Amino acid sequence: MGIPLFHYMDNQLESKIRNLEKRTAHLEPPDGDMERWVGEAWQYAGRFIGQIRMRKSYEAHHRPKENWTDFSEPTAFKDILQDIEEHIDSSGINPASGGHLGYIPGGGIFPSALGDFLAAVTNRYAGIYFANPGAVELENALLDWLRKLFNFPSSCLGNLTSGGSIANLIAITTARDKHDIRNASRHTIYLTAQAHHSNIKALRIAGLGHCQMRIVPMDARFRMDASRLREMIEEDRAAGLQPFLLISAIGSTDTGAIDPVRELGEICRKEGLWYHIDAAYGGFFILVDSLRHHFSGIELADSLVVDPHKGLFLPYGSGAVLIREGKYLRQAHGYEANYMQDAHENPRHTSPATLSPELTKHFRGLRMLLPLKLFGIAPFKSALEEKFLLCQYFYEEIGKRGFERGPQPELSVAIYRFIPPKGDVNNFNKRLIAEIHRDGRIFISSTMIDGAFWLRIAVLCFRTHKYHIDLLLELLESARDKCLSEID
Ligand SMILES: *Cc1c(COP(=O)(O)O)cnc(C)c1O
Repeated sequence: MGIPLFHYMDNQLESKIRNLEKRTAHLEPPDGDMERWVGEAWQYAGRFIGQIRMRKSYEAHHRPKENWTDFSEPTAFKDILQDIEEHIDSSGINPASGGHLGYIPGGGIFPSALGDFLAAVTNRYAGIYFANPGAVELENALLDWLRKLFNFPSSCLGNLTSGGSIANLIAITTARDKHDIRNASRHTIYLTAQAHHSNIKALRIAGLGHCQMRIVPMDARFRMDASRLREMIEEDRAAGLQPFLLISAIGSTDTGAIDPVRELGEICRKEGLWYHIDAAYGGFFILVDSLRHHFSGIELADSLVVDPHKGLFLPYGSGAVLIREGKYLRQAHGYEANYMQDAHENPRHTSPATLSPELTKHFRGLRMLLPLKLFGIAPFKSALEEKFLLCQYFYEEIGKRGFERGPQPELSVAIYRFIPPKGDVNNFNKRLIAEIHRDGRIFISSTMIDGAFWLRIAVLCFRTHKYHIDLLLELLESARDKCLSEID
């Protein structure tokens, strides 16, 4: 029951509605206001991009804002922008900066912002074909482009997600339902100690936390040891367990290691395991001709995760999952609802809502389409090859400067550390990275591998060029000298 109508006399009801309509009109501002805001937003964005090389990649000092949620009066856009600059864009890591060489760097390629802008203004419903055939067609076309890029068969279906973690969750949920896992404790899952934690999280969310986890040993380059995997599967079968899922990576987060793709695929085929490849970091290096051989056998995967907000340089909010036999994706995520009866499925155009946990969703297709259309694919290939070579260059140069290095990078991640003549090695390297963070022009991160503290470099921001690598080398040298002088 709404407002009891008898509270209003007839004409009172109408005048009340008219009154409210006048006030509501504020939500549809005059063209002049909108144009001015777009101009102010562009001024802010243009200055942000223009000054990015002069600004730090990392700033620890943060000034919190007290009253974000004072909505009592309208605020001028200029004032809001100033708050965004002071309280959001001046501290922490700047993932849009070419100096961001930590974790897995982000993108922020400009045309995607226009895609998001248009998607928000037109607010097209990209969840269901019936609601917007064109939006769903576009997203399906982008997924089909990915399918061909990664050599998947036409039976494949996929989904554009908000990121790699959700994409991993969708893949693992699909594997679970395909294998009809009921008594999880009898089923075994194989992965290495280098598997990205989002996979473990997804297993837990999907109710597979009680499966037996088998940590497969790695070779000296942190790649899964396929022969050990074979033995472990045999042992588990002999013990009456049911091997069901393999989680592997093309480009591990710590070291960029690539598991032996084809060999693992053949084992999974023979043993009836679901073969999941997490290529959230490394996937788009397939665009680089000289690196394509790493991907040979990828077509054997049952599920594949890639992250356009990493390797295609899109802003955060874009992952993707491909499932080789699309019907399993639909089985795991399809639904029926009475109030959706008008939204009948078109047999030729699968709706995203039947293939993912989301119903209403952001129309992600435009932010992916615009940069690829406006620039063409060539500069993406060049940028990825440049990032790969920049990492090789860093690896050579840091070796010349007396640092210990991890394995030769297969993609664009490398680990390294300095061994001081005396004192605790881990502590020395912790002090070293603290110096780099204090300076802030370049941001790097670190990791622990078997109790050893390693510094990492990950080159994937489209704005990272040789300038940033040379600056990091300089910063590392002076930080090393400073820390060495503090030992004596
Ligand atoms: C980044 C990453 C993820 C997680 O993806 P998000 O987009 O951060 O959710 C998963 N696996 C690997 C290998 C990654 O590099």
